[in-house]
Amino acid sequence: MAAARELRREGHAVTVMEQSADVGGQWLYDPRTDGDDPLGAAVPVRVPGSMYACLRLISPREAMGFSDFQFLPRHGVAGRDPRRYPVHREMYSYLGDFCDAFGLMDAVRLNTRVLRVAETMPSSPSTRQWAVRSVHLGDGNEKEEVFDAVVVATGHYSQPKLPRIKGMEEWLRRQMHSHWYRTPDSFGGEVVVMVGCGDSGKDIALDLRRVAKEVHLTAKSTEEAMTPAMSKMLANHANLHLHPQIDQLHADGRVVFADGSSVVADTVMYCTGYTYSFPFLDTGGAVTVDDNRVGPLFEHVFPPSLAPSLSFVGVPRKVLIPWFFEAQGKWVAQVLSGRRALPPVEEMLRSVEEHYRAREAAGVPKKYTHDIGGVEPLKMYEFGEKYCDFPRIENWQRELILSGIAGMNEDMENFRDRTDDSDNVRKGLQRWLGLAAPPQAQDDQNVSGKDTAAIEVDVQAMAKLLVN
Ligand SMILES: Cc1cc2nc3c(=O)[nH]c(=O)nc-3n(C[C@H](O)[C@H](O)[C@H](O)COP(=O)(O)OP(=O)(O)OC[C@H]3O[C@@H](n4cnc5c(N)ncnc54)[C@H](O)[C@@H]3O)c2cc1C
Repeated sequence: MAAARELRREGHAVTVMEQSADVGGQWLYDPRTDGDDPLGAAVPVRVPGSMYACLRLISPREAMGFSDFQFLPRHGVAGRDPRRYPVHREMYSYLGDFCDAFGLMDAVRLNTRVLRVAETMPSSPSTRQWAVRSVHLGDGNEKEEVFDAVVVATGHYSQPKLPRIKGMEEWLRRQMHSHWYRTPDSFGGEVVVMVGCGDSGKDIALDLRRVAKEVHLTAKSTEEAMTPAMSKMLANHANLHLHPQIDQLHADGRVVFADGSSVVADTVMYCTGYTYSFPFLDTGGAVTVDDNRVGPLFEHVFPPSLAPSLSFVGVPRKVLIPWFFEAQGKWVAQVLSGRRALPPVEEMLRSVEEHYRAREAAGVPKKYTHDIGGVEPLKMYEFGEKYCDFPRIENWQRELILSGIAGMNEDMENFRDRTDDSDNVRKGLQRWLGLAAPPQAQDDQNVSGKDTAAIEVDVQAMAKLLVN
């Protein structure tokens, strides 16, 4: 929807195809699960939603909203959650408000799944067009239409990523991916082993421990996992435990950990994140997904050989959303209208290769290719300004993000309700609350490219923002 608005603003005719019955993406909570496919092995998964019922945001509302339509609290409005870190439904409602405010819904075809996107033939870079085949999930009618450009904005929190663990195939009891998890109801009295100790793993463990007999978290490195927040969780809840990773699952229900200890479990839940998946996209190999690297993509948006008529909005991880995606959408819209030019194809490819090389040299695994906020947070802050005159985030907002992350590492259960804002944040907040549409940030309030002391803090702190 962020991209759709920017495309319209730039004068393009836009059609949004959405397979669900409403907009909102992951924020449209879906109580259904993939039924008999708890590991989410089918591609694509049948139910795209991965949100669980108890989820509260881990990013502060003040720092993530659209640049000109802030995520302001709506006190006293029924069904709304005015807190800084609201429940997931609040984000869904905000996105609905956004669509209403900008009259976007008339561009949207709901219950419409895209089955195939492929270039029409013959083509040349200047006359490139795309055939889009879609199906209406209500009446089953399929149709194929031709578009001048396609923006892929299908997210990356639907298709489970599973580890390979010895004995997974022999395990006869319940195993599932967190994609399948909604509520703790069916875990009453169970012993549950969680694989993965990221934000979702910890969050779901805290939800489960209320009804489960025992919840066993596992981590690749128990030293790294033992943050102050983890120590508090373990100290506060006698039925929560932390172990090294699983060595083997046994058919009789035994789960043996790397240190030789074991438990007999009822359920193994994989909180191991998600993988990029574009089963509908046929680029003849021009864009591939390999170990969670979608590429090549210039600045995570344009595949050089197919740009600008094919683009991706929403690939980066650990970024502020929808704020960052708004900037990406604006850039795509302006490039498509010819207001901005892309570098030549060779230069874009070189830039992608340089990005890969720099990440490799820094020891960043390939699977984190699109992790911007956690590795190069300044790039997240500077991207919009560099490519489409997008306003920078203000310093108080950045401070708020950092204090939220620090709080999360200290106390996972209570950080969302802390009220100890600094003076700087309080002042920024006052301005923000008093404005329907905040002004463009002032230079002295902005993140400066030369703010090197802050960079290191950001790099360390942002690395912990969002699991996947
Ligand atoms: C459990 C969980 C907790 C999270 N917590 C936070 C948080 O606290 N803070 C935060 O900032 N982010 C959080 N996120 C991440 C956040 O949800 C995503 O960053 C955000 O939803 C991405 O938006 P998107 O529009 O790119 O993708 P999505 O929200 O995934 O939307 C993609 C849309 O594309 C549709 N689609 C996919 N394929 C097709 C197709 N073939 N045809 C038609 N439509 C299709 C889907 O139905 C979906 O509506 C969380 C995610 C999860 C899963």
